[in-house]
Amino acid sequence: MIFNEILNNIGNIIFPPQCISCATILQPSEEKVFCPTCRKQIKYLTRSLCPICGMAFLNSPSESHLCGNCLENKLYFSCARAVVSYETIILNAIHQFKYGRDLSIGSALASFLADFSFSDFEFQDYSLLVPVPLHIKKLRERGFNQSLILANALGKKQRIDVNFSLLKRRKSTLTQTGLSKKEREQNIKGAFEVSNKKKIAGKNIILIDDVYTTGATLNECAKTLMKAGAEKIVALTLTRVL
Ligand SMILES: [Zn+2]
Ligand SMILES: [Zn+2]
Repeated sequence: MIFNEILNNIGNIIFPPQCISCATILQPSEEKVFCPTCRKQIKYLTRSLCPICGMAFLNSPSESHLCGNCLENKLYFSCARAVVSYETIILNAIHQFKYGRDLSIGSALASFLADFSFSDFEFQDYSLLVPVPLHIKKLRERGFNQSLILANALGKKQRIDVNFSLLKRRKSTLTQTGLSKKEREQNIKGAFEVSNKKKIAGKNIILIDDVYTTGATLNECAKTLMKAGAEKIVALTLTRVL
């Protein structure tokens, strides 16, 4: 046994790993991150999805079909997909990651995204991963960009380059929380810019964010990238509000 493993085992005895949602002590035989009870409550978004925005019709027995929103609105990404539904268990974990600055939770959540197999989507068609940027003011406050942590994990697993400086947030916007869909679109309009169009031109790009709420932020990012010459954009998020 190597030294690090010994230290790790001692650490696990003194500070046994806990479920990141409910803090139950995890048994060594159990899966990491979430206890079995919490894990059972996580809803993976694998079927009955809107083919464009990924809205899930969880209680509908019907096949995938376009949602009302995608029938009415112009979206600049060709599709958006998320791993899990935005509910208490994941919400608590994201909250501890972002606002409690717990990076070990961040890497656990990143593996959720990196290890998920998106059924109707081929990673090999894409050559660049771009995380949704934070404004420099917010980045300084938080100390890290949660979307970059997710993008790095996915990039490593799928061997796709990550570039966090091509898309920049030039406008410090109000928080989108509590705003209506229209207000969100207005608030985020013109917030992003591309720093080097040559590196975007003709590329198929995967945009990464932690949460898909109304899609306003991701759509504005996709619009900025498409106007800079990108060929195709998909948006992947860890969770999606349904
Ligand atoms: Zn738990
Ligand atoms: Zn839709």
